[in-house]
This record gives sequence, structure tokens and C-alpha cells, in this order.
Amino acid sequence: MLAAKYIPGEKKLSLKDVAIPEPGPKEVLLKVRAAGICHSDLHILSGEIPYTTSFTMGHEGCGEVVKTGSAVKEKFKDGVLYAVHGPNPCGECSYCKSGHDNLCNSPDRAYIGIGADGAYAEFMVVPARNIVEVPPGISPQVAAVATDAVLTPYHAIKTLGEVTHNTKVLLIGLGGLGMNGLQVALALEADVTVCDLRESSLESAKKLGAKKVFNSKFIEQELKPQSFDVVVDFVGRDSTFLQSQKFVRAGGTIVLVGLGSSQVPIVTASFATYQVKVQGSFWGTHKEMQEVYDLIADKKIKPQVQTAPLKEVNHWLEELEAGKIPGRMALIP
Ligand SMILES: [Zn+2]
Ligand SMILES: [Zn+2]
Repeated sequence: MLAAKYIPGEKKLSLKDVAIPEPGPKEVLLKVRAAGICHSDLHILSGEIPYTTSFTMGHEGCGEVVKTGSAVKEKFKDGVLYAVHGPNPCGECSYCKSGHDNLCNSPDRAYIGIGADGAYAEFMVVPARNIVEVPPGISPQVAAVATDAVLTPYHAIKTLGEVTHNTKVLLIGLGGLGMNGLQVALALEADVTVCDLRESSLESAKKLGAKKVFNSKFIEQELKPQSFDVVVDFVGRDSTFLQSQKFVRAGGTIVLVGLGSSQVPIVTASFATYQVKVQGSFWGTHKEMQEVYDLIADKKIKPQVQTAPLKEVNHWLEELEAGKIPGRMALIP
């Protein structure tokens, strides 16, 4: 089968013909139907997130179960889509048992497609416990990108930001995550303001129903300082994190999702004086993944996804790096 492999030190993926993997006792074999491409892939290829072993990339996958391991008791349905929970939690540790399985601290765990073999292949093997049934009517490409590009903003906005009806929320950065974050915040009936530097993204945000849309260059003049309950920084650079601190209200929360810089500054005077909370956010849980698919099935979130053949993966990673992909992209094996 075809698989796109990360090789340590190489800047492109290697397209290889490899054997179809066999599921272990507690695993299933998926015939991959779609795999989302993501900025994290670029961070791995550039060496910013270093990996010393080779693996098949692709952490946003979905497919059909075609084989189950000897110890798997669940029955999976033929012809039904199952999405992969990329954090690949163990299910046994204290984090997993308390429902915080995105933070699983098992020493044996590797993220699917980021350390362990992932979805840029015709088939993939995953622990049976780490797949989620996708409701009917959701396409493979939407199901695939939802595993990260919808799940991550959902976790950040709903769970950690505690955004609900009428919460005043500012979303900074309208890339793939921010654009889905906007839809999550609208679905929660929050009072949403969004900003980005790209006019094309601002236009897309308006089409998705955003009413308060600003170019980041002008928000210092346009928005009142300390006027948001929650600010979600999908960029994570010095400038956006300083803006987050400027616009969050006293006692409010900044949720940091983006990894744009390896460090960001905190203004100690306003941080302490105004009791601002800074909340880190990482991916999402198995349970949240099911909630995300319910929202998509109800048409409350409509992720924008383009598709391309898997063998063009390197081309589309370059396009992503050049900022030429609006919304998200999924590869079809
Ligand atoms: Zn991702
Ligand atoms: Zn665990």
C-alpha cells in the first residue's frame, strides 16, 4: 500500500510502497477514507517539533474498520465511518480515567501520525478504543479534519473558555482552527468578535455569520480594552498574546491554542492587577469528539474542506506553508 513517511532530517515526506499492517490484539485495521493536513505537519518537517524516528504522518484520519484484533470485543459496523482520536490515550492512567484523556501520561503513548503511524496511507492500525463512530451524512473529508481542526477549537472555547450564551469572546486568527472556532462560538450563541490580518479570511468569516469582524491592524483603535470575557489566541505570537492581554476583562480568561512563537510575553502589572487567567489548550477528548460530530450532524458547524489525492501530499504541504489553502485540506488515498 501507499504510505507517506516522515524520515528524520528530510523536509519532504517519502512516498513508499509498504505492507498493509496487521492489527495487534486490541487494535483495528482501518481502510483510510480521508486524512486532514495540518500546520503541525509543517512544524515536524521543519524540525521545530523534532522526531528521531520514522513514521507515517497524518494525525487527522477516518476510515472503515476492515479487520479487528483477537481481543477486541466491540462490533464495528461495515461501511460506517470511524474517526481516529489522534491523542491516542491509554485509557488506564489517572488522566484517562478522569475524562482528561487528551492529557494521558502513559509512557507508551505516541500520537497517531505524530510519532506513531498515521493516516497518510491506504490503511492504518489504531487501538480499538481510540476510534469514534461518525454519524451518517458526514463526508470522510469533514470527519477527518474534525478530529483536530474542529475538536481543538471546541475544547479551547467550550470546555476551557467556558464560553456559553452571550459570553463576550474575541477570537484572534482565522486559519483552519480559528474559522471552525468561529462556528463553535456561534453554535454556543456567544457574542463573537473575530480578527485576522488577511482580508480574504475576514470575508469568509462574514459568510459564516460573524457580525463583528476586524482587521488585526486596526483593533487597537476599534475595540475597547478589557472588554472581553474570553480571548482565544489561535496564533500564539508576541503581538497576538499582547493583544489578548489588552482586550481580556479583569478576571477574564485567555485561552492559548496557537504555537506561533516558542515563548510569549506576559505583562506582569496587568496580569496580576486584573487577575487574568491564562489557560493552555491541547487538542480534545474522546467525549468531546462525539459532541463535535453531533454539532456537525446538526449542521451547526460546517467545516470547509478541499480534497486532493494522497500522492500529492508534498505539493499540498507546500501550499499550506505558503498560506494558499483557505479552510482545510484532506487527502484521499
Ligand atoms: Zn492537526
Ligand atoms: Zn492514559
